[in-house]
Amino acid sequence: MSKIGLFLCECGPNIAEAIDLDRIAQSIEGDKTVAGIERHKLLCSTDGKKFLAEGIERNEFERIIIAACSPKQHEATFMEVMSSTGCNPYLMQLVNIREQCAWVTTDKKAATDKALVLIRAAIRRIKYHDALEKKEIECDPGVIVIGGGIAGIETALRTAQPARTIYLLAEATLGGSAKNVRILSPTMRSAKEFLNEKIESVRHNEHIKIFENCTIEEILGFFGNFVAHVHTKDNKKHELKAGAVVLALDAQQYVPHGAHSLGYGKFEDVYTAAEFEALPSDSIVTKSGRPLHSVAIIHCVGRKKLGYCSKMCCVNSMKIARDIVNRSRETKVIQFYKNLCLPGTYYDTFFKETKAQGIEFVRYGNIDVSRDSEHLTIRYKSFGNAERTVPVDMVILSTGLTPSSRVKDFAQMFNIPVDEYGFLKQEHTILEPISTVTEGVYIAGGMHGPGDVNDSIAQAGAAAGRILSSLVPGKRLELEAKTSNISETMCVGCGACVDVCAYGAITLDEDKNISVVNEVLCRGCGNCAAVCRSGAARHRHFTNRQISQEILQILE
Ligand code: SF4
Ligand code: SF4
Ligand code: SF4
Repeated sequence: MSKIGLFLCECGPNIAEAIDLDRIAQSIEGDKTVAGIERHKLLCSTDGKKFLAEGIERNEFERIIIAACSPKQHEATFMEVMSSTGCNPYLMQLVNIREQCAWVTTDKKAATDKALVLIRAAIRRIKYHDALEKKEIECDPGVIVIGGGIAGIETALRTAQPARTIYLLAEATLGGSAKNVRILSPTMRSAKEFLNEKIESVRHNEHIKIFENCTIEEILGFFGNFVAHVHTKDNKKHELKAGAVVLALDAQQYVPHGAHSLGYGKFEDVYTAAEFEALPSDSIVTKSGRPLHSVAIIHCVGRKKLGYCSKMCCVNSMKIARDIVNRSRETKVIQFYKNLCLPGTYYDTFFKETKAQGIEFVRYGNIDVSRDSEHLTIRYKSFGNAERTVPVDMVILSTGLTPSSRVKDFAQMFNIPVDEYGFLKQEHTILEPISTVTEGVYIAGGMHGPGDVNDSIAQAGAAAGRILSSLVPGKRLELEAKTSNISETMCVGCGACVDVCAYGAITLDEDKNISVVNEVLCRGCGNCAAVCRSGAARHRHFTNRQISQEILQILE
């Protein structure tokens, strides 16, 4: 029988003060299946990892249990240590006595009892662990980037390297929605100049192949090996191969159709912010050619209907106000706002600078716009105050962003869920903000929610970082071994597993009438094994025997 070792981690005072580790060691000492018990103050520290490796080698442990923190935090760390000693890393069980005991059970005796039960369950379980082996597959280090806007361009630039081909696919011409922007906030730099520099850089990068005005017919495959079928305007079909895909389409400007009380679609000289920015640069006059003496910018138009704050519109409005004042010193600009969204210190400074330029801010409760032959009139009620009116020459409606009309198509193509607003869902909003549930498919820019140019650039950098570190030219792709497999002989082809696999890793082989797992896509969630009534679907590291032995021990 293999030698089993137990390592207890104190986690400084975190575990040592909340759990009686001496009592745990004494209780386990009598268990003949455990060949040795070791204890360390901080097992994940450099010294702790050395202690662990030396302990495994000195005692010739073949299977180990570590009682420490959450597997989310250090399972990979300790698996690496296991491998470094020549042991199979899957012959380790990490028991979470910190988050599940020390941090949640205030009574020390109760926390110790609970930790003891979990450790005993792990001792029983570890005997049934299989020495799993990781598989490797050939992969293509190239990247397919979908979207010719800033997010797409930036992703292409950041991933382009020797031995990688980056395919930048734009369904229109390069530039995306930034083509209609005059000025960037908060730098107040010319957007055209910035965009042209970026476009020049991609056009001259030998590792980037650009497809403009193309139609993306389909993208098949999986992480490491995607194939895109693309149709170009010259009626040519292209087959492009790459290991990863970045969905980087811009979000769309919300158009407030029906906002008649604000004069949109009803009166001359009422524009959305995007429409105003797209006007020819010198036309800072009314439609009839009169100079602008006053402009009202109304914030949060459509905010209630959209159901979310687009995060960029307040600063965008201030940028437009400053641009107007910079171009026409005599023009008075009033910002009518409900709430101001100024994330970070940078934007707070931008707000102060905007006010210092003489731009007025008025908080409104209700607002509407009317027109006589000469002027537009803003009638508003501020919070708790009487109704007021202000004549202006132009009204700019600050609207938010909505999902690209192509989100649904790509969601379907890659099996990615969309949220209640129609944006793609991130794999995890905090831990995996640029990943999707489909391995190898990342998101940047406006695909997963509204944001500004700075957000797009940061997300493009994050996506590039993930790709460059996981797809390395000349290296094969290592697959996770903790996946599911399906027994051909036991499967009855009911398809229940296909329905519950959120990662699109299972397909039904209609000829053989069985389900098949794609191990590249499988994330080891175990849903298929849980739903399969015939027992054909089995998780390699959470087998029925492992789990039932663990439960039986806990219930004893
Ligand atoms: S391994 Fe986990 S429990 Fe131990 S010191 Fe590190 S963080 Fe704390
Ligand atoms: S649920 Fe089980 S029996 Fe049904 S198709 Fe999937 S693996 Fe086969
Ligand atoms: S364990 Fe099963 S359900 Fe989960 S990702 Fe893998 S194949 Fe899909």
